[in-house]
Amino acid sequence: MSHEYSIKLYDTLMKNEKELEPVEPQIVKMYVCGPTVYDYTHIGHGRTYVVYDSLKRYLTLRGYNVIHVMNITDIDDKIIRRAREENRDWREIVDEYTRDYLEALEKLGVKVDHHPRVTNHVGEIIEFIQGLIERGYAYIAPSGSVYFEVDKYDDYGRLSSRLEKEYWSQEPEFLGEKKKPYDFALWKAAKPGEPYWDSPWGKGRPGWHIECSVMSSRYLGDRFDIHGGGTDLIFPHHENERAQSEAYYGKKPWVSIWMHTGLLMVGTDKMSKSLGNIIPLKDALNKWNPGTLRLWYLHVHYRKPLSFTDESLEQVNKLYNRVVSAYELLRKLLPESKELFYLRDDDVRLAKELLRLNTEFHRALSDDFNTPQAIAVMNELLTIIFREIQYNPKYLLTTLATRILRSMNYVFGLFEEREIREDYESLLNEVMRVLVDTRKELRRRGMYDLADNMRNELLKAGIQLMDKGLETTWIITKKKIS
Ligand SMILES: [Zn+2]
Repeated sequence: MSHEYSIKLYDTLMKNEKELEPVEPQIVKMYVCGPTVYDYTHIGHGRTYVVYDSLKRYLTLRGYNVIHVMNITDIDDKIIRRAREENRDWREIVDEYTRDYLEALEKLGVKVDHHPRVTNHVGEIIEFIQGLIERGYAYIAPSGSVYFEVDKYDDYGRLSSRLEKEYWSQEPEFLGEKKKPYDFALWKAAKPGEPYWDSPWGKGRPGWHIECSVMSSRYLGDRFDIHGGGTDLIFPHHENERAQSEAYYGKKPWVSIWMHTGLLMVGTDKMSKSLGNIIPLKDALNKWNPGTLRLWYLHVHYRKPLSFTDESLEQVNKLYNRVVSAYELLRKLLPESKELFYLRDDDVRLAKELLRLNTEFHRALSDDFNTPQAIAVMNELLTIIFREIQYNPKYLLTTLATRILRSMNYVFGLFEEREIREDYESLLNEVMRVLVDTRKELRRRGMYDLADNMRNELLKAGIQLMDKGLETTWIITKKKIS
């Protein structure tokens, strides 16, 4: 059944927008390629993590139960190389950068349901490779490495739009033993000094691509709904994942929608090691609050390039602060808002306007997760809150605006209401410290009438002061329900 609100997402394979029709009703299974933990998580990774987290939030808001799995590649050439360069154990490298990655996710409010690690799944990976050999899609080289024979799979290159074989070449270091330059490793025989696992083909370790085919289907099944990652993963990583999985399961399609997030630029340059302009996520999180960073990631459509500049972050930070202020304003207005048993024409018009914005918000996000458009709608809502509702707090208007802003905040993941309350608590503690100190000074100077007056007024406001000698403590005696 298709209607205006059905969720459409751009599918890299079919090269058009596709309606989300989950394999199992009401459940969306999503696998996103995670980090290889050999270096600090950078702001480019952060974009991918935030986009899929927000998408999950949106799908949740729409009533789906979303299962979000993201792998951690904890054995790989890059890890081995780094360990060798720094003369450290490879597991130490893995632990250090896994911690950095998980801390960044936590700060960004990105919640992943499961993080499978490759080294915990080597047994399943060996079984999968064995299955590919039995089905005739893979061969064992004399070194003990196992390769996928691309020519046996008839749909290679379509995901990355590389239809000619001349564009398929990869892993040139194994040219000597591969049947074709575009075959790729499923299992890499161990060289002296490298970490290894025992296998039917000798000591070695999994290639990179096979892990995602194995771990995604272990947790999400042999067909699932969304496979995501950065654009740079389309070839060869996702092309190879797809070939392996469709060959192994003998079913098509393996995933319904392939999603890819665009490139992250620093100014006008590509972010790269050679240019030395890689910005670790932890540095960005030291400078900007997580909500601002999330809003910045989402203010450009996820498929377009996003360029990091301080100006663009400052601009977004202003918007972030406006959202927080609007939210606080509504929280204060709500208990004072009046139910007048009649609304003026203008109020009715405003209520309709709010509902229109709610519709526009959903329309934008249903249409290939158009977050910049949704943020523009949020901006319109903020304007109405500050220009109209602030001076005309009718109950219907304040509750409607609150509910809509709350769902926007939920999808973008800007702040938790708890955080604002915690801010207020520390502010209250500070104000009370000043009042208690002042009252102590008044009593010291014998100005007891002023000190008593202060205590009585605070009691009326719901705060009881308790004197013990010269020291004073305080408790809240009545709670306002907000
Ligand atoms: Zn992957």
